[in-house]
Amino acid sequence: MKMPAPNSAILSRAADIARELRRIVPGEGVVTDPDAKRAFETDGLTAYRQVPLVVVLPETAEQVSAILKYCQNNDIPVVPRGSGTSLSGGAIPLEDGVLLSMTKFNRVLDIDFPNRTATVQPGVTNLAITKAVSDKGFYYAPDPSSQIACSIGGNVAENSGGVHCLKYGLTANNLLGVEMVLMTGEIIRLGGKHLDSEGYDLLGLLTGSEGLLAVVTEVTVRILQSPETARAVLFGFETSEAGGACVAAIIAAGIIPGGMEMMDRPAIHATEAFCNAGYPLDVEALLIVELDGPQGEVDYLIAEVEAIAKHCGAVYIRISQNEAERQLFWLGRKAAFPAVGRLAPDYLCMDGTIPRKQLPFVLSRMKEMSAFYGLEVANVFHAGDGNLHPLILYDGNVPGEFERAESFGADILKLCVQVGGVLTGEHGVGIEKRDLMGEMFNEDDLNHQQRVKCAFDAKHLLNPGKVFPVLHRCAELGRLHVHKGRLPHPELPRF
Ligand SMILES: Cc1cc2nc3c(=O)[nH]c(=O)nc-3n(C[C@H](O)[C@H](O)[C@H](O)COP(=O)(O)OP(=O)(O)OC[C@H]3O[C@@H](n4cnc5c(N)ncnc54)[C@H](O)[C@@H]3O)c2cc1C
Repeated sequence: MKMPAPNSAILSRAADIARELRRIVPGEGVVTDPDAKRAFETDGLTAYRQVPLVVVLPETAEQVSAILKYCQNNDIPVVPRGSGTSLSGGAIPLEDGVLLSMTKFNRVLDIDFPNRTATVQPGVTNLAITKAVSDKGFYYAPDPSSQIACSIGGNVAENSGGVHCLKYGLTANNLLGVEMVLMTGEIIRLGGKHLDSEGYDLLGLLTGSEGLLAVVTEVTVRILQSPETARAVLFGFETSEAGGACVAAIIAAGIIPGGMEMMDRPAIHATEAFCNAGYPLDVEALLIVELDGPQGEVDYLIAEVEAIAKHCGAVYIRISQNEAERQLFWLGRKAAFPAVGRLAPDYLCMDGTIPRKQLPFVLSRMKEMSAFYGLEVANVFHAGDGNLHPLILYDGNVPGEFERAESFGADILKLCVQVGGVLTGEHGVGIEKRDLMGEMFNEDDLNHQQRVKCAFDAKHLLNPGKVFPVLHRCAELGRLHVHKGRLPHPELPRF
């Protein structure tokens, strides 16, 4: 994966740039020490690293505005960063760019129970929102497994999801308003505490835009009342195909569980060894289904789901008998990533989405690919959404293994697109899937998406090198013609 070559003119101005930024953010808010900057060199996609030119940690929207305006006027790229847990490399810095860390935006601003909203700064962690409202019986529904660390600003930028998003929607479905700053320094508000806004759905456009359109400085989300009851059931199957078929059958019966997650044998074994969640070790696939709502409804649905699972060949059934047991079932699933991390020195976490009924076919093709590449794969996924997270195990110290793992991952994502799915479910494109965008979109599609980018950031200074496989100058969009191998505008950074 290549990043845009650093601009030597910007590198040579590093000291001047830091001095100007210190005028905007005084004190310790500007980091230039090489060792201190190293803490920001990567994100959750740790295979890639770049030390940023300078790190700046603003505390107010006005400071963010002044920083962006300065960078816009001086042609300096900017990479926004929340907690740095992105798995697609969205927050990886640029050698010639300012890393804009939003971690000091860490205050809960307003809890409004009558309107069922929480307004927070973007650096507040996902879980902290639930903690801020749980004493009154409320919670924030989208729950990425990284929720203890990831920021709500990062969630908005990635349109993050989690176990409960099948029933309660992704970040996009729970976001009501933002304050954001454009590269020009303009501070804009979209949405608010109300349910709908007139005009274009710019909030929808911003959600999932991976830090390419604006920097989010305030977020208003919907909070929900915690369900009266929640119970989880473990179903074990002798084949992944049977587990996949059960997922499709539950949804086809008109039941939308609070969560429906699946793990294959390698993931079950790794997880059980890691945290003793009580998972069966003699099955090929484990399905965790959670039903929530009023007690009577939950009891009824558990019986329905149990009957469906038996019909689909479930050989193991265990229903949580109390809250502690329900939490234990989920503890295993939530710890699956670190647990799989003990199976090999390294793993790549992929993220593709497929139509649910393709689950059995895709899982069996993945086994063939695993044999072809000679690399093990453990599968953990949001089965109800058809969102796969194959974890490809490799050893980065063995020459060629990382490249093989990347090719394996690319083949899985191409397969997702071939069966009618998409390249990403919730982790974003970032740099990880950037060069695969051509598998999903033709040139016209990509050009139209880039025109939207141009409307927000005409100089392409906000998070360049991410999402789009080719950088365009806005004026030449759609008119780039390579004649006899000669690319027009060779001065433009490309990959
Ligand atoms: C162990 C683990 C488990 C995970 N599980 C899940 C999961 O279940 N579901 C899921 O969806 N994701 C998951 N993730 C991925 C990741 O946690 C999410 O993408 C998360 O939303 C990133 O938040 P962050 O604050 O760390 O953002 P960062 O990684 O810092 O940034 C992510 C992107 O958001 C942009 N950005 C950050 N803050 C702002 C802002 N204020 N304004 C504009 N742009 C901004 C960045 O430029 C970047 O493009 C997991 C990651 C790990 C490491």
